Amino acid sequence: MILQTRCTHCRQYLSFKSSAVDRFALAKKIGAKPEIVCNQCGKSDKYDLNDIKATKNRTLGLIASLIFLVGTGLTVYVVLTEIFELANIYAISGLVGFIGIPYLIYEAINSSEQSKVAYFNAKIYG
Ligand SMILES: [Zn+2]
Repeated sequence: MILQTRCTHCRQYLSFKSSAVDRFALAKKIGAKPEIVCNQCGKSDKYDLNDIKATKNRTLGLIASLIFLVGTGLTVYVVLTEIFELANIYAISGLVGFIGIPYLIYEAINSSEQSKVAYFNAKIYG
C-alpha cells in the first residue's frame, strides 16, 4: 500500500510508504498535520490527513502478476510433462489442480492489498 497526496505548490503526486492501517494510526506516527517536502519543487507544506489517500502498491501488483505468469507457465509445463506418465485419473486430476495455485496466490496478494487500501480510505480522520 502506498500513501499519496498532491503537492499544494506544483500539484505533483507525493508518495510515501507507511505501515499505518488507517489515518488514526498514521496520525500517531507522523502527526495530525504532517509536514511533507515535495521531491519535485522542494517546497514543504503541512497536509491534512484526509487529503492523503491510499493506493495499491504497483510493485506488489507486478510481483503478483509475475508469480501468476511464471507460476502458471511452470505448473502447465510440469503437468504436461508428467501427465503421460500417470495412468491414474485421480493422479491426473490432482496434477491439473496445481495449475490453479499461482492464480490463488495472485488473488490473495491482490485482494489483501485491495482491502488494506479500502480500509485506509474509508476512515476519515477527525
Ligand atoms: Zn511540489
